[in-house]
Amino acid sequence: MDSNPQDPARGDKRAPRPSLRAPWSEFREALDAAGFHPSRRLGQNFLLDDNMARAIAQDAGVESGRFVLEVGPGCGFLSVHLADRGAKLLCAEIDARLAPIAARFLEPFPDAEVVLGDVLASKSRIAAHVLERLPAHSDWTLCSNLPYSISGPFLATVAQLEHPPGRTCCLVQKEVAERLAAAPGTPAWGPLTASFQEAFEVTLGRLVPPQLFWPRPKVDSAVFLAELRPDVAPAPIRGARIGFYRDLLQRRRQGLRRVLADMVGKERCASAIEALGLDPQVRAETLGLDALRALHAASAG
Ligand code: SAM
Repeated sequence: MDSNPQDPARGDKRAPRPSLRAPWSEFREALDAAGFHPSRRLGQNFLLDDNMARAIAQDAGVESGRFVLEVGPGCGFLSVHLADRGAKLLCAEIDARLAPIAARFLEPFPDAEVVLGDVLASKSRIAAHVLERLPAHSDWTLCSNLPYSISGPFLATVAQLEHPPGRTCCLVQKEVAERLAAAPGTPAWGPLTASFQEAFEVTLGRLVPPQLFWPRPKVDSAVFLAELRPDVAPAPIRGARIGFYRDLLQRRRQGLRRVLADMVGKERCASAIEALGLDPQVRAETLGLDALRALHAASAG
């Protein structure tokens, strides 16, 4: 992959920059020696293209000294570019065969740490060994090639952190990136969109084709970028709103009155819909974030 003269990150034909890493064949040997077979359940698709990994670290806009969380460093192919930009890097890896490979690769960077374990303690809780290392402010960055299996629940949990990342730059399945960045009323808009956009303004980034990974995923991947909203609500309010959006948008194709009445009772439903001047037959999926927030406030007990 590294011998490809075309840098997909720059879209031109300048000579590629020297690689920060040993050739893939060396990693492959170490993986084979450890009896490693990539796990689909753990979303183990490694980003082999060094130019793309560098470009993603660049998209993340990491400056020297910035705290960065990377979920699933794998062999460390993205990590090394984050570390090279001077990040104070925390890598959380679930696979005990991979964590030492990433740690060895990151040895030249004293500000990089690899911790072993599942980043999630439950579907909606970040594990204590990661949470206790996160800064008590939002001047930090989340940058990962996220495992597909946890990207939705993990990102919804991140949106509810007391101190969410100021900036997020992650590579996910293209369809997930589209859902995160979707506009109301479009087919991609749903519970994950509203939950994530409650905390972040999201834009789609570069597309990453399957041939840049090993093993090749069956789907396209894409980067998304997210900036923490300047007026982000305190965590308990965000948490309550997100729970409400989820319940409402899980039945997004049904009429608003029917769904909301099941959630808060007929009386509160009727008064909230009337107070906001909404059409009771409208589908919940057509409501944007402002309308959802107002509906949550108006139907609260
Ligand atoms: N960052 C590497 C790269 O770009 O080549 C690997 C990315 S691969 C898509 C996802 C990584 O996440 C794998 O290393 C996998 O073992 C790890 N992983 C999967 N589930 C995890 C979890 N719940 N907590 C922490 N790491 C996880």
